[in-house]
This record gives sequence, C-alpha cells and structure tokens, in this order.
Amino acid sequence: MTAITDLTVINPATDATITTLAADTPASVSEVCEAAAAASAAWGQETAFARAAMLQAAAARIRADVDQIAGVITTESGKPILEAQFEVQWAADVFDFYAGIARSRGGRVAPAASPTTTNLVLRTPLGVVGAIVPWNYPVLLWAWKAAPALAAGNCVIAKPSPETPLSLPAVVAHLDLPKFVHNIVQGGSEVGDALVGDARIDKVAFTGSAAVGKQVLVRCAEQAKRSTVEMSGHDAMIVWDDCDIDLAVQATLFATFTNGGQVCTAAERIYVRDTIYDSFVARFTQAAQKLSVGDPFDPHNDVGPLVSRAHRDRIARYIADAAAHGARIETGGSAINGPGAYFSPTVLTGLSHEAMNGLGEIFGPVAPIVPIASFEEGIAKANDNRFGLSAHVVVRDLGLAMRAARDLRAGTVWINNPLMDNLAAPFGGFREAGIGRELGEEGFDAYTESKHVWIEHELAEQYWWFEGRKAMVAALAG
Ligand code: NAD
Repeated sequence: MTAITDLTVINPATDATITTLAADTPASVSEVCEAAAAASAAWGQETAFARAAMLQAAAARIRADVDQIAGVITTESGKPILEAQFEVQWAADVFDFYAGIARSRGGRVAPAASPTTTNLVLRTPLGVVGAIVPWNYPVLLWAWKAAPALAAGNCVIAKPSPETPLSLPAVVAHLDLPKFVHNIVQGGSEVGDALVGDARIDKVAFTGSAAVGKQVLVRCAEQAKRSTVEMSGHDAMIVWDDCDIDLAVQATLFATFTNGGQVCTAAERIYVRDTIYDSFVARFTQAAQKLSVGDPFDPHNDVGPLVSRAHRDRIARYIADAAAHGARIETGGSAINGPGAYFSPTVLTGLSHEAMNGLGEIFGPVAPIVPIASFEEGIAKANDNRFGLSAHVVVRDLGLAMRAARDLRAGTVWINNPLMDNLAAPFGGFREAGIGRELGEEGFDAYTESKHVWIEHELAEQYWWFEGRKAMVAALAG
C-alpha cells in the first residue's frame, strides 16, 4: 500500500506539470465517512421525485458545460477531445436515465400471504457508497456508480485515480446537492483501502484492474460489505468473411484504438477467418498507419498520448514480450520520440492464441491478429480466457450472429457495432472480469436493499401464537 501525500498531475501530451494537490489521509477519509453517514438519513428520506429532479438539473448543468469538463479530461489523460466530449455527454445521460428509473422503481407488492395481509417489498437505500474509479473514463465510470446510488437515496464518496484527480471535481462542481451527499477523496491505494475498510461505507463500487479488484473483494468479504467490482478485460473480436472487408477493418480499428486502446472492452484478441486473413491484415495495417496520432485537443487527430510515460513503458514491455513469443510487428511497435507519452498504433501477427492469453490484458494501442478456420473455433478461442467482459463480432449471416449471441461467454456481445453502451442494459463481466452489473435496472437495484414489510390489517389472535396453540391442543385432546 503506497501512501501518497501530494498528487502531481502531468499533461501526458506535453509532459508539463498541470498542478499538485494534497492527497487525503486515512484520518481525513474517516472524517468524510462520518459526514456522509450523517447526511445519509435525510437524503434517503427525500422523495424519489425530489432526488430525481435534482439529478436531472445536474445533468442539464453538466451538458451545458461539456467543453470545459471535457477539456479537463483531455488535459490530464490525453483522451482525444471528441471522445472526452462524448464521455461527458454520456455521463449527463446517465444522470437523466437514473432520475427516470428512481421515479418509477419504488418496490412492489408481493402476493398477499392471507386475506387479511398486505406484503410490501420496499427498496431502501444502503447508506453510504464508496465509488472507486480508474483513469481511463474518469467521469463516465463515476457516473455509472454515482447516478444510480444517489437516485436510490445513498450518499456517495468517490475516489478518482491519482492519474486523473481533476476530472471528477470538474464534473461534481455541477451537482449542487445537499452538503456531504456527494463527496470526493483524493489519493492512491492507501486512501482507497481506507475507504473500503471504513465501517460507515455500506457498499463499495469499484472499477479497475483485476489485481486490485480482487483485493477489494477480499476486504469487503471480511466485513460482509456489499460490493460491485468491474475488473480487467482481454476481449476478443471475431471477423467473419461474409462482411464488407473495408467496413470490418473500420469496425475493428474503432474497437482497438479508441482512447488509444485504453478501454476495458477494447478488442485485444482479433480472430479473423483464414479465407480473408491476409487481405484483412494488409488493409488493417494500412488503416492503422493512417490514424493520425497527436495533440488530443486537435479534433482531426484520432489517437492521443497514453495516460502517462509509465503506462507507455508498460506497453513497450508488452511488445517486447510479444516479440519474444513470436509476434511479428506489421506496423508501429514503439514509442514516438519527443515530448508526451505517444505510442504508434501497432499491429501484431504471428502470436498463438495461447501466447496471447499468457501475455494478458494490453490496455494500449496494440492489435494482435490471429487466423481461425471456423466460426466455432473463433467462439471457442474467444471464450478460452480468464476474463469475459465483452466480445465483438462482425458477421452478416443471421444464424452465425445468433450463435455468437448465445455461445459467447461474456457480459456484453456486440454484433456489427463494437463498444456501444445502452444505458437501459446491464454492463459487467463473466469470470474474472467482475462481479455484479452496472447500468440498466440492475445497476439501480445494486444500490438498494430489499426489505419485506408484512402488514396484518388488524391485530388478532393467530392459532400458532402460544394462547392459540393451547386452544388447538385442548381441542385436539377432545
Ligand atoms: P487500478 O486497479 O490500478 O486502480 C483503480 C482504482 O483503484 C484507482 O482509483 C486506484 O487508486 C484504486 N486503488 C488502488 N489500490 C487500491 C486498494 N488497495 N484499495 C482500494 N482502491 C485501490 O486500475 P487503473 O490502472 O486505474 O485502470 C485500468 C484497469 O481498469 C484496467 O485493468 C482496465 O481493464 C480496468 N477497467 C475496467 C473496466 C470495467 O468496466 N470492467 C472499465 C475501465 C477500466
């Protein structure tokens, strides 16, 4: 566990220091937990309509200030400005969506247990939610947690990644909620761990790496604390030979190089039908070479820098390991000289399926392509992985598409349109990619506790109570 006292924020496009801010400490995290716990009773008792109205007003303010918030994301993470703007708009949409869900999802009436009974199932807030987020979508992945948690009547304490500590305050400034209903703590693993370990935190919602997610799961299990963990991905893309090959190239390019490949659901194992493999690799390599890499504020650029020089070194090590396992570099493969954490979009061939699995998650602008002889082989290889966050398929044949939908063991299956989220549908992973779901009605229920209320319409003697039993025994005795 590393204790960070100051967070130095670097612009990865220029290497310039943007600012330095003080990190929280376990003691200050404890104070925030106390304040949030104290605020949670009143927030939980607001009507769903009042909370929904506040969240919708926040969404409108966020939407009105997209450019400013997106600018902060781009400055500290290197995300291309258009993608940062989309991210902020989607985050506003999440607040609107959960305002709507909160208005309509108030529990249910269970079938009555007797003619004199009413049985209610109430959805009650959990209390205080600790929301721990990574750097690659610092606003969107927070919104997936904070919006449903707040809509359901919980207070939130969010912890951004130390790589991107400025984006969250930039968007949270638009919430305008009662004091201590939404809070931010800043820092690294020590601060995250203090949040997870605090008894006043009723649920932890985590997105990040599998290594850290598993530690969070263990800490939550020790405390019987609720948790949702979204972890790493190492997702497959199957490209079948009945599609327009140039469109298939474009779809795969988007699935691999969006946000410089720093997407948990990026296509990182690309399985292409052997009949079109050579042609696909040639066209894909050419298209990757045409991607313009540069200043993330220039909307003409497709790919910005990686989030940091340290992360770029990680990607360079991946390429070296891949080469040692027989990978051929079709294009790219190295850092771009000069200021900033830029890395060339890279295409690899020659890796075996086993070697790709052994090398693990990439999280960078690298596309390993492997031939497959049959659709079944593609599905089997896609499924043969520790993770199962998502899977992408480009295919025209409806029968094959439906087979992929049925047989791929992943939380999301994208057919002919990669990386699309639908707020109304759940997102999450199979196997080591995570436990639990965000988005959809599932993503709201995850921030509530079900409570059964039995209402007997009148207080009356029941035959199984002690007096009733005596009467029954006496009657039986004759
Ligand atoms: P990370 O696991 O290093 O950090 C994630 C967050 O956890 C950060 O805020 C970090 O400070 C915090 N943290 C670190 N140690 C902690 C501890 N002991 N206790 C509590 N919190 C702690 O991940 P990252 O490098 O920020 O993000 C990249 C990873 O996130 C990739 O593996 C990627 O696949 C994954 N990711 C997953 C999804 C998904 O939805 N499944 C989405 C985006 C990113």
